[in-house]
Amino acid sequence: MGFVSILSFAHQCAAARVRPGDVVVDATLGNGNDAMFLAKLVGDSGVVYGFDVQEQAIRKTGERLEAEFGAAGHIRLLLASHAEMEAHLPPDVHGHVAAIMFNLGYLPGDDHSVITRPDSTLPALEAATRLLKKGGIVTIVVYPGHEGGAEEARAVDAWCSGLPQERFQVLQYRFTNQKNSPPYLIAVEKKLS
Ligand code: SAH
Repeated sequence: MGFVSILSFAHQCAAARVRPGDVVVDATLGNGNDAMFLAKLVGDSGVVYGFDVQEQAIRKTGERLEAEFGAAGHIRLLLASHAEMEAHLPPDVHGHVAAIMFNLGYLPGDDHSVITRPDSTLPALEAATRLLKKGGIVTIVVYPGHEGGAEEARAVDAWCSGLPQERFQVLQYRFTNQKNSPPYLIAVEKKLS
């Protein structure tokens, strides 16, 4: 059978903590895979907020969501940096978000110069930990293989390792014998008590 893939493990982490009606965030829409997955988990009574800085990602994700769910009102796609996510989420959901998913790096097949960068990724992670409810989770798929990726991975690793263990549990899921700096997952859970 083998171990589940990095992306599947990220989905399992979210699925275990997200219920219908929850508020969730896809911080890096890209092709919209995480947004689709999250929209199924929260259903019509929940809300998915999605962020990307490229119009193409917003358009593509919007088309996929509409094909699957119709013109449902429970999806809010925003052409904005995830570093500003707090300003885009209504104050009453701050501290009540069940899952926030990041998939770093560049959009496959597109302009590889648009990559996530530490100067916005770290503020976005800070914001994510504030938005999260107790028992909620942030998943971060980290891509150290492209130019700029290793630097971002080091920054994300250091930031995650520095989170206080009284309030957060931080897990890494990583294949350690693969070539070419493969992606890995960091999951941050806000502790219940
Ligand atoms: N590397 C993944 C896909 C990552 S897509 C894979 O191989 O499957 C990452 C997305 O993040 C891209 O669509 C990019 O436009 C977006 N992005 C980059 N900087 C961002 C920012 N500051 N805020 C929100 N999205 C950002």
